[in-house]
Amino acid sequence: MAKVGFIGLGNMGMPMAENLLKGAYEVTGFDLNAAATERLVDNGGSRANSLADACNAAEIVITMLPSGEQVREVYLGAGGVLASIRPGALLIDSSTIDVQTAREVAQAAQNKGFAMVDAPVSGGVAGAEAASLTFMVGGSDEAFERARPVLEKMGKTIVHAGAPGNGQAAKICNNMILGVSMIVVSEAFLLAEKLGLDAQKLFDISSKSSGQCWSMTSYCPVPGLVPSSPANRDYRAGFTAAMMLKDLKLAQTAARATHATTPLGAGAAAVYERFVESSDASVDFSGIIRYLRGA
Ligand code: NAD
Repeated sequence: MAKVGFIGLGNMGMPMAENLLKGAYEVTGFDLNAAATERLVDNGGSRANSLADACNAAEIVITMLPSGEQVREVYLGAGGVLASIRPGALLIDSSTIDVQTAREVAQAAQNKGFAMVDAPVSGGVAGAEAASLTFMVGGSDEAFERARPVLEKMGKTIVHAGAPGNGQAAKICNNMILGVSMIVVSEAFLLAEKLGLDAQKLFDISSKSSGQCWSMTSYCPVPGLVPSSPANRDYRAGFTAAMMLKDLKLAQTAARATHATTPLGAGAAAVYERFVESSDASVDFSGIIRYLRGA
């Protein structure tokens, strides 16, 4: 099986790397946090003491980092991925980052003769642990086909979204829909309450009517209506409000750069910003209903 260099062993990266080990890949991990690398070693992986160390022997390098700033530094910096990998290696960035950085880094890789895909994910930590992530992949047809087998060890749905950066484009467009829909579902339940309409009745009607959406039927922000919803666990994340805000901001950066008109996306970013400032940012994003109730 191929040798993988895995950089960024956090909440998402660690279970993803562990699934590659289960899938018989050889994984060498690097993280600024030495304890994370130690845990990978405990699970059968190898420790890299530097970025270069993780890349030297790797046939595939996967990164799972917080934001575009770290991705730029890790790929383009001195002693970084592009300076350290061997000819023919495949590069996969699964971090959620801005489209422009994804395209610039992919171009820099291409200029040096390396195939690269951006492959952000949906499914959260639970999906990473269960190897059931959805990967949205941007890159050439050839790079996508090379990436598919290793992505299949970590996810269930692998979609080629088009050229470099299109994986990130798909991710932020999807999460803009999600952020807006979670706010409006919350607003509808709060309005219903003021009007004396029982939450269960609104759910029974809307979940079978034109207001139906994922935020209503799979992740309802009102406790007691959908068993798997974080609302039933005091809004324990799940997908944190801070992460939703990050993705909504990325969507707004992209909208400004392309002169796209996204008034509801802009509104959702502003509402989540106020929520995160006023509350615990690690609460689940569906906890927005508590902010709206008090606002
Ligand atoms: P995290 O903060 O838990 O992990 C990031 C890891 O990267 C940390 O362990 C950190 O030490 C390491 N790191 C940072 N800079 C580094 C560097 N220069 N070199 C080596 N390691 C470095 O974050 P996470 O929750 O695992 O998320 C990772 C990415 O996945 C983010 O872009 C996030 O938006 C995206 N994402 C997260 C979720 C989720 O539910 N957590 C869901 C979908 C997408």
